[in-house]
Amino acid sequence: MEKMELNKLKLPETGERIKIADGIAVVPDNPIVVLMEGDGIGKTVNNIPGITDAAIRTINYAVETCYGGKRRIIWFNAYAGDSAREVYYPNISDDELKAMDDDEQRKVYLPDETLKVIEHFGVALKGPLTTPVGGGFRSINVFLRKHFDLFAGVRRVKYFQGVPAPNINANQVNMVIFRENVEDVYSGIEYKAGTEKQKKLEKFLVEELGAELDPNKEYGIGIKPMSEQGCKRLIRKAIQYALENDFKKVTMMHKGNIMKFTEGAFRKWGYELAEEEFKGKVIAESDIKDKVPKGFVVINDKIADSMFQQIQTRPGEYGVVACPNLNGYYLSDALAALVGGLGLAPSANIGENCAIFEAVHGTAPKYAGMDKANPGSMMLTGAMLLEFLGWKEAAELIRESIAKTIIEAANLVKENKKPLPVTYDLARQFKGYTDKDGVKSSEFADKVIENMKMS
Ligand code: NAP
Repeated sequence: MEKMELNKLKLPETGERIKIADGIAVVPDNPIVVLMEGDGIGKTVNNIPGITDAAIRTINYAVETCYGGKRRIIWFNAYAGDSAREVYYPNISDDELKAMDDDEQRKVYLPDETLKVIEHFGVALKGPLTTPVGGGFRSINVFLRKHFDLFAGVRRVKYFQGVPAPNINANQVNMVIFRENVEDVYSGIEYKAGTEKQKKLEKFLVEELGAELDPNKEYGIGIKPMSEQGCKRLIRKAIQYALENDFKKVTMMHKGNIMKFTEGAFRKWGYELAEEEFKGKVIAESDIKDKVPKGFVVINDKIADSMFQQIQTRPGEYGVVACPNLNGYYLSDALAALVGGLGLAPSANIGENCAIFEAVHGTAPKYAGMDKANPGSMMLTGAMLLEFLGWKEAAELIRESIAKTIIEAANLVKENKKPLPVTYDLARQFKGYTDKDGVKSSEFADKVIENMKMS
């Protein structure tokens, strides 16, 4: 067993470390995975279970069913968000917190000890976290991505048969979005209008670089750095995923017709990478003569605005999508809405040495402690984690079982029966049904588990 000096955390008594290097994970049969339960709907309060509890039960059951005790995840509880503040700084007031500098504030919500165990064990599952109240330190999630260089934001968006989605083409959606997570506008290089730094930068841009800016206007200025290395490593991950998971196409989404040296370069570097590193496996769409050679993945590119139209009219034409930071953010939220909402939207943040898995949504505070929110997104996030570990059978079992549960609900609707075996958010989308016609979060999990037994 591992040795590590810890203060508030207790190392699990069993389990082994997953070793990740250069993006490749070597996974034992009893891997230790760091678990941050999360705030709000993530958290179990006074024995009323949160969605993280529902997800863990489901993940454990899927693993047990598929591998009959040969494999098991050992969950290692660590603190982040409000729970970290309660454990490490129970007496601190909001005013004291606001007076702290950025890094001290960060330690309140994301203790060094939590960072240490994530770094050591490499893989973590995280519930949603409240954005801190203080001024300087803005986001635990953004900090984690930068700290561990989790450069690939991965979102899997697939339609579940039976969900009353707002778009009639939703049933064609089966996409995996790879969003660049740490560069571009998320670099945070931005200057407020009228400040000294902004004036200095404006002067430099106009006088040294010949930029045309109207001296009678006050500009806020942001900088959008995108590197060749950053773009290539993201597109490499997307292509590898397509090859390993039987997707036929990788599309690079960009606005390169306007932003030529950032988003345009993203496209150019992507084609270069495909040629340099995936010859014989990947073919550019423009090089296809007659039909796609057998076993090849096609790489193409699309301008962001036209792609937003096409995901609504012909989503079946897309599989894996690689995109710069902000494009990816918009695209994946639009897709989640297209297939029926945030309650079924999982994600992963993956780097070369670490991976953190989380649902797309936040803490939905108005549903905290009510056993009401949809745990589907956390369960599907668990499925992405299992896929990362290479435990694909268990990942697929979770997805199939959720699908089965939703179809059961849709069939009950045909017979005008209630309650539906899904949570309030899905129940209210069926015509003639309201949010009162669903089941509790924990009951949905029970049903998903029951459906695994019958698979
Ligand atoms: P939110 O927590 O995502 O909730 C917005 C709405 O989305 C909810 O009111 C609910 O809609 C729906 N929703 C979200 N999760 C759901 C679930 N599991 N099941 C069913 N419905 C769900 O967004 P927010 O209210 O803007 O943010 C609350 C806090 O979360 C903030 O502190 C924010 O910073 C934080 N946040 C954290 C993360 C993260 O940790 N990754 C991500 C986003 C936001 P209805 O009310 O219509 O039912």
